[in-house]
Amino acid sequence: MNSSFLYHAWGLYNHKCTREEYKGNTIILHIEAKERKKECPKCGHRQLVKNGFRVRDFIGLPIGGKKVIIRMKVQRYKCKNQDCDYDRQESIPFATGSCGYTHRFAKYVVDLLRSMTLKDAANLLGVSWDTVKDIHTRHLEYHYAPPSLEGVDSIGIDEFAVRKGHVYKTIVVDLKSDRILYVGNGKGADALDGFWKRIRRKGVGIKYIATDLSAAFISSVYENCPNAVHVFDHFHVVKLMNEKLDEIRRVQYHMEKDINKRKVLKGTRYLLLSNGADIFDKEYKTRLDNALDMNKPLSQAYYLKEQLREIWMQVNKDDAERGMTDWVKQARESKVPQLVKMATTVTAHRTGILAWYDCHISTGKVEGINNKIKVMKRTAYGFRDEQYFELRLYALHDCRITRNVG
Ligand SMILES: [Zn+2]
Repeated sequence: MNSSFLYHAWGLYNHKCTREEYKGNTIILHIEAKERKKECPKCGHRQLVKNGFRVRDFIGLPIGGKKVIIRMKVQRYKCKNQDCDYDRQESIPFATGSCGYTHRFAKYVVDLLRSMTLKDAANLLGVSWDTVKDIHTRHLEYHYAPPSLEGVDSIGIDEFAVRKGHVYKTIVVDLKSDRILYVGNGKGADALDGFWKRIRRKGVGIKYIATDLSAAFISSVYENCPNAVHVFDHFHVVKLMNEKLDEIRRVQYHMEKDINKRKVLKGTRYLLLSNGADIFDKEYKTRLDNALDMNKPLSQAYYLKEQLREIWMQVNKDDAERGMTDWVKQARESKVPQLVKMATTVTAHRTGILAWYDCHISTGKVEGINNKIKVMKRTAYGFRDEQYFELRLYALHDCRITRNVG
């Protein structure tokens, strides 16, 4: 085969093709080095002798819809200088180590995986799923692992379910770059141990941390980063309040004996949990008002829910603190058990809730990343392999990589 074709199609320029073989859907190109090595690379001695060879196969870029195997006669050379121990296989410039594919093929696979699943790419290329995954793993390891901690000072911590409801993982996200910095097993305090170790080893100064109200995260942050500003994510606080409100609605509904009143309560869940300011529909508004008029605990909970959000809408921290004190007082005075409990929670997390005024961070970004993970898992096949899964997470911020999976 013409050597300029060999160069343009497969990037081989130090080699010549001695024979082409056509076998079904595969083209086998037999190649060997154009020139034999003459000088010992170690001592410079002029007498380098051939010392056997090995034939190796490399998957090359496909052509004409056919798979291409580059079959190379890899020569071994030995130095004749008695003081030199050089005895080595010639180098292979187009492939890495013991990999059975060329650099160009690997790059092609990585490109395909931007819009294809592992399985589809393997089918298209006529190679095994493991080969495709191996190529991708190496690529991800080289470019994304371990994630750099340089310049990181604000982080968000959250957990997600790997499989429905059972296996959890905790992720640490750099709030500036949206990169996942760490993936820990479980959702307990020990899930973060490895991360704190890395932080200490690298001397990284974390200044701001956002988490939900999880006791495990709180104690872990307190122990390992006592000087950081720890902000309790406001969406999580509001969510907790919504859960209380929903619980009250359910309890009130079941306690209500009057069928007509029950009817009014039924179907108000969505209205109760929506932001009051977002309900424009007249009919909806009337229905909500009717439900609230008729049930005191429910209306107390509803207005406290609406009021809670205002804690994050103040001009400064002092106003917010006053608002919070007032809120806690009202919640306690309502004597509604769920609201009293919520008052206790808010009080216990007072510092972290108000810390939002020192640094406007939230785990919102982390939630967004969690959604991306969900999408990624939906088309997943490779994620039983924990290491590969972790690598995919480290590359998740890079949209050139994350479009597809599997
Ligand atoms: Zn030598």
